[in-house]
Amino acid sequence: MLIFEFKAHGKKQQFNAVDEAIRTVQFIRNKALRFWMDNEKVNKFDLNKYSAVLAKEFPFCDELNSMARQSSAERAWSAISRFYDNCRKKILGKKGFPQFQKNNRSVEYKTSGWKLTSDRKYITFTDKQGIGKLKLKGTRDLHFYQPTQIKRVRLVKRADGYYVQFCIQVDRSEVVEVTGNAIGLDVGLKEFYTDSNGVVVENPRFLRKGERGLRKAQRRVSKRVKGSENRGKARVILGKRHLKISRQRKDFAVKLARCVIQSNDCVAYEDLRIKNMVKNHCLAKSINDASWYMFRIWMEYFGKVFGRITIAVTASGTSQECSSCGTIVKKSLSTRTHVCQCGCVLDRDHNAARNILSRGLSTVGHTGTWGKTINACGELTATLVGVILPEQVDSMNQESSVALALRVSINEPRRRKEREGKRQEERKKLIISSPVISEILHPFQSAFY
Ligand SMILES: [Zn+2]
Repeated sequence: MLIFEFKAHGKKQQFNAVDEAIRTVQFIRNKALRFWMDNEKVNKFDLNKYSAVLAKEFPFCDELNSMARQSSAERAWSAISRFYDNCRKKILGKKGFPQFQKNNRSVEYKTSGWKLTSDRKYITFTDKQGIGKLKLKGTRDLHFYQPTQIKRVRLVKRADGYYVQFCIQVDRSEVVEVTGNAIGLDVGLKEFYTDSNGVVVENPRFLRKGERGLRKAQRRVSKRVKGSENRGKARVILGKRHLKISRQRKDFAVKLARCVIQSNDCVAYEDLRIKNMVKNHCLAKSINDASWYMFRIWMEYFGKVFGRITIAVTASGTSQECSSCGTIVKKSLSTRTHVCQCGCVLDRDHNAARNILSRGLSTVGHTGTWGKTINACGELTATLVGVILPEQVDSMNQESSVALALRVSINEPRRRKEREGKRQEERKKLIISSPVISEILHPFQSAFY
């Protein structure tokens, strides 16, 4: 599944209609949840059927396309089934009983209720919601795929506008050469990770850097009178700041994950539950900042694409064990160096990374079951859902050259080529300028983009 995203351009009243649709989706989802709570033995299909009942009962539900109604009901089901799953797995503590939603930001159509124009630059929503024709702006080319391959169309509201996402069904797998490398990763707070070769990737402190701006924006919001117009404006600014940071975070995670997966046949990492760690408030910011969660999901995704092995191992004791002789060397969090009687002296994280690799290789634990789908990140926040979706940095070169070949006009390709080249150069600079990444990248530079 590939997800292409375009910014939607239209009139204010059209976006009001989108808002209306988003509200309806939330209404149906919550109603379906209520239905499940009040009745016994309700399954997915009952909820689907119930969405039709709602349409008869409430005229505004009837305005939304029938399949969009169903997918709203499915949202309720996904919350319910996650709760069931947690109960079945006997997860300690809270099981995540489904909650009523109040901050929905998207509406999902399936294969009906919308139509692309023949030049694929406009999309028209054909249900009674009254959204109408929206212009699509983005760098992706939909010409490359058949309309039948588009399985879902989503309208997403973000701080800086409305976006249209197309979920395209393609099996994405790429053949890459075997590298002969295996690597273990230890996540740190100070560093993003330390690998089993002792290479350290620094933390991109986007959040810390952007924090001052955020704090300022936050202060501005709280100073304004509640409900006033100025507060609304300040909120918009705050939202945009957050959006920027989350985009930077995603960008970093995707690029690094791709790089790690391409340079190694086998990657072992700790099976950390971010949820548990975030409970510790001091660590929370650093962990979120480190965007490790996203990184892991993307590694597992790229692992599938490139046919690499990703292994999550239990992390307990990896920092205490000696990676050369196996004795337990007790140390507190503040001890940064591992010193063993056998003469092994390593950085604490380097030692842990080596342990993680050997555990991974010896057990071949569960391979990437935790973040099965990219959508699994849905529980983070509504904004993130869209941000994480696999809108890949995939082979830009290949794709744009195909797109170029398809273009008939003479001037357009040349200009495009120039722009593309410039952009790629900038991108390469960006990646290579970070010294550590370039170390990993070095032998595979040509394969990266
Ligand atoms: Zn030792």
